[in-house]
Amino acid sequence: MAVAEWGDRPLLLAVDADARQLGRIEGELQRAFGADFRVRGELLPEDGVRTLQGAKDRGERAAVVLVDESFSDDARAKIFETARSLHPNAKRALLVAWGAWAHPESAQKILRSMAVGDISYYVLKPWITPDELFHRVIAEFVMEWSRSEPTNMREVVVVAAQHSGRAYAVSDLLSRNGIPHTFRSRTSELGQKVLEEIGHPKGEVTVWMPAIGGTHLIDPTDAEILEAWGIPTTLADVDRNFDLLVVGAGPAGLGTAVYASSEGIRTVIVEREAIGGQAGSSSLIRNYLGFSRGLSGAELVQRGYQQAWVFGARFVVTREVEGLTPQGGGFLAQVGDVGEVRARAVVISTGVSYRRIGVPSLEELSGQGVYYGSSVSAAQALTGLRAGIVGAGNSAGQAALHLARYCATVDLIARGSKLSDSMSAYLVDAISALPMIKVHVNTEVVGGHGDGQLEWITLRDRRSGQEQHLPLASLFVMIGARPRTDWLPAEVDRDSYGFLYTGAEAAACPSWNLARSPHPHETSIPGLFAVGDVRSGSVKRVASAVGEGSVVVSEIHQFLATPQS
Ligand SMILES: Cc1cc2nc3c(=O)[nH]c(=O)nc-3n(C[C@H](O)[C@H](O)[C@H](O)COP(=O)(O)OP(=O)(O)OC[C@H]3O[C@@H](n4cnc5c(N)ncnc54)[C@H](O)[C@@H]3O)c2cc1C
Repeated sequence: MAVAEWGDRPLLLAVDADARQLGRIEGELQRAFGADFRVRGELLPEDGVRTLQGAKDRGERAAVVLVDESFSDDARAKIFETARSLHPNAKRALLVAWGAWAHPESAQKILRSMAVGDISYYVLKPWITPDELFHRVIAEFVMEWSRSEPTNMREVVVVAAQHSGRAYAVSDLLSRNGIPHTFRSRTSELGQKVLEEIGHPKGEVTVWMPAIGGTHLIDPTDAEILEAWGIPTTLADVDRNFDLLVVGAGPAGLGTAVYASSEGIRTVIVEREAIGGQAGSSSLIRNYLGFSRGLSGAELVQRGYQQAWVFGARFVVTREVEGLTPQGGGFLAQVGDVGEVRARAVVISTGVSYRRIGVPSLEELSGQGVYYGSSVSAAQALTGLRAGIVGAGNSAGQAALHLARYCATVDLIARGSKLSDSMSAYLVDAISALPMIKVHVNTEVVGGHGDGQLEWITLRDRRSGQEQHLPLASLFVMIGARPRTDWLPAEVDRDSYGFLYTGAEAAACPSWNLARSPHPHETSIPGLFAVGDVRSGSVKRVASAVGEGSVVVSEIHQFLATPQS
């Protein structure tokens, strides 16, 4: 089958009142992107709005909307609001002149526009021809737009009935492993072509990989999908004696694997679900050093995965470490469907898993409109619909902002009396600036219903006891997390919540029996280390998880080099 292209020339719109400057911007856009995109410049804000409306009326898509900062607040807001409602995936940015960041007024406009979600970022106006920096920023916008447009062709196509629960799970697996993909219903034009090409298979879900020679899989397991894409799920033909076993490939495990393998430690990393852990499900990580306009969690962890792979770390994904026994100065691990793996030292980086909502009718709809954590892939499917989020932490706030790009209404449901008790101020501000996000404080979810798919939930006001039905297409539950440590031997000491003690806290535990003190990330069992969210007292952040992953490697070097006594 011929691989489809975009089919149209999506719009790159620039609005700037300075004709000379606008001409330069148009010229740069045209030269770099003109073959595939329709470049349009407008001098007046109202013409910018008209162009966006016209594109929508003709069924065209807008990919990037750039607006000069010198327009009035209202004029800029009108263009961005039109772009947001008519072309929700278009990347929106403020055009600023070089040096403008030094003017408090311009800086204020940039920060305010970002805080309320009007723009993704700012773009420096081109001042030279060719302006490679300008091209690079626009190219990044275009790539992000392209990945978020559900109608664009992608490296993997999932074909299934519109509301197939398994198709949702497959899309989620692909998203969280950073595999670019798109979904098509069986009745869509492309869906029908794919099914016809491979002889109308009877299965529920077909996964077609046009970028990998047209490979196709019918009702595949998670492991089969990842193997077909080239992510290993076994240890066939590999010596199973490693220097280091890392359990869990979230940011902490990936950080450990990158530093350990780059420093010559023979490392295997086992992950039971998807590379990236919680970070893989974060739509935008804004506070990771070096990425000032943020980046998707899936992209960050994919970069980490590739980095560890390049340094020679061995990955085994969709397999769970089920047991661990100290043995012969090292460790023997039982890995589901793989068997025994030996390592001289082990790092536990198993993070946390979400607390359940505890409403039986909603538990039954898990995966069918009720989701744990926020899934990037679910948001687009909710375009124009109403979705709810239970929770009041930063991840709930980020999820609300992400969903607001697509949903008509987002209900944020919190038990407490105000969001600011548990959510960062920048998120609270951004949420209060978006009228489509309705915040329900002092409220809990006590019921819900759906016939194979969530239809509504019941909310109860915790002060008055009054109940109301809320019709919802999806509910995202983000009410806290517990560590994944049940499977570890009892001698590994942990706090009352199950988080692992390390360092000085481990030294005080009954299991610690050496004369030396434990290393800062060592648990109460010598040679068994813990990093990231699973560690008692850890800071629950991507950067700290990665940082702990780097620090623990020097401790492992010391451990491996020193006879234990
Ligand atoms: C929606 C969301 C948004 C977030 N946004 C931000 C943000 O913007 N900035 C920020 O700093 N932080 C953010 N966080 C928090 C951040 O993602 C976590 O602090 C970080 O991912 C912790 O990393 P970790 O490696 O310790 O654990 P995790 O990310 O939880 O990874 C643990 C991994 O271990 C695997 N695992 C568990 N048990 C086993 C086993 N027995 N065998 C094999 N594998 C196992 C799990 O499947 C998982 O992949 C966000 C979290 C969420 C959920």
